[in-house]
Amino acid sequence: MEQKLKELGMKYKEIFSDKSSVRYFQAPGRVNLIGEHTDYNGGFVMPMAINRNIISATALRSDNEIHIHSLNFNNTVKFTLDKLEYDKKDGWGNYVKGMAKVISDKGIKLSGMNILFEGNIPLGSGLSSSAAIEVLSGETFSKMSGKDIPSDELALLAQKAENEFIGVNCGIMDQYIISTGKKNTALFLDCRAFKAEHVPFVFDDIYVVIGNTKKERALVDSEYNSRRKECEQGVKEFNNIIGGVTHLRDVSSKQFEEHKDKLAEITGKRCQHVIYENERVLEAVTRLKNGELEAFGKLMIESHESLRDLYEVSCAELDVLVEEAIKMDGVFGSRMTGAGFGGCNVSLVKKDNVDNFIAQITEVYKSKTSREPEFYICTAENGVGEIVL
Ligand code: ADP
Ligand code: MG
Repeated sequence: MEQKLKELGMKYKEIFSDKSSVRYFQAPGRVNLIGEHTDYNGGFVMPMAINRNIISATALRSDNEIHIHSLNFNNTVKFTLDKLEYDKKDGWGNYVKGMAKVISDKGIKLSGMNILFEGNIPLGSGLSSSAAIEVLSGETFSKMSGKDIPSDELALLAQKAENEFIGVNCGIMDQYIISTGKKNTALFLDCRAFKAEHVPFVFDDIYVVIGNTKKERALVDSEYNSRRKECEQGVKEFNNIIGGVTHLRDVSSKQFEEHKDKLAEITGKRCQHVIYENERVLEAVTRLKNGELEAFGKLMIESHESLRDLYEVSCAELDVLVEEAIKMDGVFGSRMTGAGFGGCNVSLVKKDNVDNFIAQITEVYKSKTSREPEFYICTAENGVGEIVL
């Protein structure tokens, strides 16, 4: 790590022609273990922060400008704190500018600075590199300006930037785990009450293995929006039937079974997924606390089947990764993770079996899809913070 930061510090000096001493911050990507498409339904999720991150190297400027450079994009974007408006030509820089905007709008005065970014979270693969760069920018801006934003507030600000500045209607999960993650834990988050519990997630003999389909997530935005609408329809109907329903979270599986015949087919399928998925997360928390990984893995498999058949957000590539994974020795469970239509799956695999797991699935996946998958062996890491050497 020290060597990597030294190199980043040298690149900072070169790119910004600035010899100031540099501070470093990092924000991880995340993987969701269970609880998919539940966050915007006021429900439960269980993500963890992973050992892939974006690092910032930064020093203050004497003017009111923000100059940012990403080594992943190899380009520099400049803007002034006096004019924080979305500009298409700024590309990735809008995520950073959006954070400056939501923080400034809160009345927090930011200082001018240069920031160099470099990350190893795959972009656009559902591991939330967007939330990572938002939360990282927010942390870098605030700490460098001598201000302290509590981590749950930082999460909300980052969500606001993604919703209002970028225009992506995401829930709170990604920004929350990236802001508050703790090493060796998974986060059990109640997205409505905004109540979080860090559940120990450390096993000597098990890895979380992420498989990347490398499939572009076509459709994801429009399908995501239509799922949200279908869930709102479900809320409306259940509110008429049983009352007191503001989110699908308010409907139990028992109530669902009692009244499902009154729903149109699609609304029924979407509701069934969300309602049972919430209950699976609650059970998963208990299983994890008891160390019952077989049972935890079974819930992951049920989650995948529900996302595939009821919520209909999986795709052939994700299904191949999951179907092959659960055939293998030493695998407790596997499911698609993230919004769907591409992106990644997540599996719980015994360490002794990991090499074989990756080798075999790579072969089958290549032959069935003509794409080359990527695998990331993951551990649960801390959320955003300064790296002090
Ligand atoms: P995901 O969040 O699933 O990775 P998104 O499409 O939501 O995918 O976000 C990816 C975008 O986030 C990138 O296209 C880029 O604009 C921004 N981004 C992510 N990582 C970086 C980085 N290291 N440097 C600059 N921009 C980044
Ligand atoms: Mg994203």
